[in-house]
Amino acid sequence: FRDRKLIVHIIPFENRRQILVTHDVTESERIDMMRRDFIANASHELRTPLTVINGFLEIASLQPDLEVSIRSSHLKLMVEQGERMQRLVEDMLTLSRLESAEFQVRCEKIDMHAMLRHILQEGQALSAGKHQITLELEGPNLQGSSDEIRSAISNLVTNAIRYTPEHGEIKIVWKSGAQGPKLVVQDSGIGISAEHISRLTERFYRVDKSRSRETQGTGLGLAIVKHVLLRHNAQLLIESTPGVGSKFCVQFPVSRIVE
Ligand code: ADP
Repeated sequence: FRDRKLIVHIIPFENRRQILVTHDVTESERIDMMRRDFIANASHELRTPLTVINGFLEIASLQPDLEVSIRSSHLKLMVEQGERMQRLVEDMLTLSRLESAEFQVRCEKIDMHAMLRHILQEGQALSAGKHQITLELEGPNLQGSSDEIRSAISNLVTNAIRYTPEHGEIKIVWKSGAQGPKLVVQDSGIGISAEHISRLTERFYRVDKSRSRETQGTGLGLAIVKHVLLRHNAQLLIESTPGVGSKFCVQFPVSRIVE
């Protein structure tokens, strides 16, 4: 019981005997702590853009004759911060939907080749020609929730683009394997050092906060990926070398394959 937190009740019983009732509250305390952390992080993330927007609104109300160019630059910054809050709230809603037990995984046929071609196009638009992105398609179709799988793969590809400097390479590979089909998203980007890898799928965990914000990250992308994959009995493997690049592999079970 060394690492456990127990609540012990001693209840008097007949003939001067006593009953000992113990409750192991380790798990519920851990969940409570995670919930508290999540609320603290989410509030902090929302407070920053709100402070910026309120600051500019205050300036606008105190200085109604502000120069047009300054006013329009303030408006642009406010729109950016509004969009940041919107992304955050959308990711938080997605996470909470994924976590709710009643929300069953849909079981539809996913045309993986069509989906990955679409994700490639979106990736190319985001990269705006700054990276060389390639796609290899060989694997089968899957059954599952197409919205969820698309958002998980999109998150991996978006991250690969965000954390890879200009002229870097990004490879997306969809292939069959003895253990089931596998999706690989490999980049030649900044990489991640070993001590961070096991924590990357925690909500709001970022290796470099300012870089993540610069690249419009919410810090929730990989937490969403983790939940989607859990719901589809798939596993995420991350290999990375700082300064060389990262490889995110998703191993799907054979049972997810569909003709
Ligand atoms: P974010 O919105 O900050 O990108 P994620 O949950 O998607 O949040 O990722 C968590 C953190 O993992 C990122 O902040 C970044 O530090 C790191 N990360 C994710 N993908 C990559 C990658 N391909 N290369 C380097 N670092 C990455």
